[in-house]
Amino acid sequence: MNEFYVKNNTVRCRALDSENVIHGFSTRNGGVSELPYTKSLNLCRGRGDSDGTVDENRRLFASYAGFDPAALVTANQIHSANVVYADGKTAVYDGADALVTDKPGVILGVKTADCQPVLFLDGKNGIVAACHAGWRGTVNGIAANTVDAMVRLGADRKTTVAVLGPCIGKCCFEVKDDFTKSVREADPELLRFVSDGHADIKAMNEYVLIRAGILKGNIYVCPDCTCCAEDKYYSHRRQKGLRGTMLNVIGLRGFIAGGSPTPQNSP
Ligand SMILES: [Zn+2]
Repeated sequence: MNEFYVKNNTVRCRALDSENVIHGFSTRNGGVSELPYTKSLNLCRGRGDSDGTVDENRRLFASYAGFDPAALVTANQIHSANVVYADGKTAVYDGADALVTDKPGVILGVKTADCQPVLFLDGKNGIVAACHAGWRGTVNGIAANTVDAMVRLGADRKTTVAVLGPCIGKCCFEVKDDFTKSVREADPELLRFVSDGHADIKAMNEYVLIRAGILKGNIYVCPDCTCCAEDKYYSHRRQKGLRGTMLNVIGLRGFIAGGSPTPQNSP
């Protein structure tokens, strides 16, 4: 059974479908950007669209995913392995690539265009997180750091669901020797996911998550490759940097810890 589907121009995962949870991975469709390389749902400034266009796209995406755009919290991502706690009072955090919260109504968002977005939910304890795992963040363990930050807030590794969203697939992620060298230095166990000059970022993050105590049956991996699926996603690599940016969001809606219904955890 396919755990992933598209609703309102937004990729969803059934494992996160719950009346208490807002979530979605944006696609490039359903927006107002008209530049050939940002057409049409570019969600970040500085990519060629006017600020007004980006603001309208964010408003549209928020309506597709079902949240108030004023509730969105993001980070000025720096390819780090740093996690911040979002209390809802700050809209943009510096120096981090992952966000965690236990506050209902706070919508966490990470930006991607080939990098791996991961959304987390502990539905039993009412804690969510989102991380941006580029290859540097991946090999430096940002996914595991995010799980640890959730646990410090009261999450349980055994009830935490991790959803790996659309990112560049092994098919298109060609790497050179300097990449292999960096992996060897940072986390040699991940070298097994580099072969034939290609790296498998999804498999790396899945491995990091299992090593961090997340149950394999609670990990969901979107099969899409952002570089292959030109009609559906922006891709930094395919578009040689001239591209829009996607947003990947998760948040709690009026959540009561221990309340029901909890999201389905069955594989
Ligand atoms: Zn591909």
